[in-house]
Amino acid sequence: MKKRILMLTTGGTIASLPTDEGLAPGLDGAALAELLPTGVLEHYEIDIRDILHLDSSNIQPEEWQMIARHIFDSRACYDGIVITHGTDTMAYTASVLSFMLRGIGIPVVLTGAQLPITHPLTDGLENLRTALAMAASGAAGVFLAFDRKVMLGCRAVKTRTTDFGAFESVNWPLAAAVDGKGLQIYSEAIPAGAGDSVLRDALCGKVFLIKLTPGLDPEIFDVLLQMHYRGIVIEAFGAGGLHFVRRDLIAKLYAAAQAGMTVVVSSQCLYEPSDFSLYQAGQKALAQGVIPGRDMTTEAAVTKLMWVLGQTTDPVEIRDYFSRSLAGEVSFL
Ligand code: ASP
Repeated sequence: MKKRILMLTTGGTIASLPTDEGLAPGLDGAALAELLPTGVLEHYEIDIRDILHLDSSNIQPEEWQMIARHIFDSRACYDGIVITHGTDTMAYTASVLSFMLRGIGIPVVLTGAQLPITHPLTDGLENLRTALAMAASGAAGVFLAFDRKVMLGCRAVKTRTTDFGAFESVNWPLAAAVDGKGLQIYSEAIPAGAGDSVLRDALCGKVFLIKLTPGLDPEIFDVLLQMHYRGIVIEAFGAGGLHFVRRDLIAKLYAAAQAGMTVVVSSQCLYEPSDFSLYQAGQKALAQGVIPGRDMTTEAAVTKLMWVLGQTTDPVEIRDYFSRSLAGEVSFL
């Protein structure tokens, strides 16, 4: 029997057409699917739903919640769901959906393209083919398919602006890949589903990301507190360091914690885990109660913090969420 796949379209380059102001989403899902070879179309039973027509720069928490609801409400009727999405913020959407849809029970696969699907050299057809195959694979979870590779949604990072290999699975092996034997699933890289499928889509939008620069003025924390931010992710230096000489960020961390702010610290380095216990400049931060981001991507750290602060305001529970992997986003070595 053919696998039933739901394709949700949201816009992005894959569905874009040239306009006077540059590329903008213009094609609907039917037009996208029409360009797929007959062999692909005959292989699956595909339903299409156009839910957004946006460049992914405009996809924000409200859209994440809307996409999550469509997926959740449709899960019982399909073997898998493919979401076409712009590449620019796809890693954020893939990460946050991993948290909102824990235990979803079917494959949910995001994909897009570097060149519009109507371009003669498009990568969109290949990416769609891979996404459909993954959606039909029975491997449950939220994934991102691109350039014949499939990765956990919460480990994906866009690392290239134009290359067809735009995404990497950071600090985690691929979940699947296409080769001469077809779609190879690497089960050991796919975390077991987390219990029942429940939609938890509450989010806190008041999360700020700071990339530390040498000499950054600690008063930035006061401004964020005045603006009622509830969470900050700090991309600190190297394995884990923040300045405290002359401009004392550590003292500000203490004040922020006292004011009820949750601070997650990770590294500006893309690869390998941060370890704030290594240097004095990191240990001082840990002593103020900051939460280590370990080997999480920035996209995962930011969306996890938004999601966790949407679930609870209790500092003990917040810390508990960060002491566990919820969807394969963090490793504890
Ligand atoms: N600006 C586009 C978007 O993210 C880029 C893409 O889809 O590749 O919607």
